[in-house]
Amino acid sequence: MPLMRERDSKRLHIKSILMGESLVSESFLDSLEVAPQRRLFPDVNVIKIGGQSICDRGKRALPGIVEEIVANKNEHKMLLLTGGGTRSRHIYAIGLELGMPTGIIAAFGSSVSRQNALLLATLLSDHGGIEIDQDAIMKLPNYFAQGGIPVTQGMPPYDFFAIPPEKGRIPIHRTDVGTILMADLIGARSCIFVKDERGLFTDDPKKDPDADFIPSITVSELIERKLDDLILERPCLEILQNSQVLDQVQIVNGLERGNLTAALAGEPVGTIITKG
Ligand code: ADP
Ligand code: MG
Repeated sequence: MPLMRERDSKRLHIKSILMGESLVSESFLDSLEVAPQRRLFPDVNVIKIGGQSICDRGKRALPGIVEEIVANKNEHKMLLLTGGGTRSRHIYAIGLELGMPTGIIAAFGSSVSRQNALLLATLLSDHGGIEIDQDAIMKLPNYFAQGGIPVTQGMPPYDFFAIPPEKGRIPIHRTDVGTILMADLIGARSCIFVKDERGLFTDDPKKDPDADFIPSITVSELIERKLDDLILERPCLEILQNSQVLDQVQIVNGLERGNLTAALAGEPVGTIITKG
């Protein structure tokens, strides 16, 4: 960046392409050329272990997932994130009826998701499981070099600054969003959501047993279908669509052994949502 000296005051300025711009102008942003996004850790798989769908099932779901994670450890680097699940929903409901703002509800969610990160890291502790803070992310290579399996909570750190949604006061950026943002940030090899259904259906299969399974779909097709309910938080779709480093996300059923392993191996198990 060249330095410029002001003629009168002799003050130094740093000339940059963004100088004097509001950074809001659409035409300016259209014309702005930026380097392609660097992939920080392109060999790391970002995996969300569902809160309600997996962690809340405790002994019936977690030991199987833990075994599968451990079995894949030597072949695949994995960064695990956790959802909050039913305990988040409980405190959300109490907060909502007591008039709490979105930012407080979001902060509740973060602390519950952290409980699940501690739970999962503890279950993995014999095999290198280590609970990390989200801001330790630049230390990922250290954890992997030591044979670690890092686990962090999935809520994005908006907390008190969570954006009030169009409807109600439940934050729309929760642990699915935190997971895909993390995958985008590090330019991950894959972004896998481990939940309790085969993948995406035309409706919640728990409420509508006739719902059809959707093995693969693009973001624009999915938005166009205007499904009433989704297996993934809605903002994930726009984040994937705008990502410069992610091509797809995959949702697999963690209650069936082998699905996570297959997804890590690049097999089309579950539902694959692709950018486009
Ligand atoms: P997590 O535990 O990862 O936060 P959630 O429980 O929030 O996961 O979301 C997964 C659930 O979403 C599934 O168990 C399923 O009951 C529900 N769901 C809602 N809509 C759909 C849909 N269209 N396809 C599949 N599952 C859906
Ligand atoms: Mg959820």
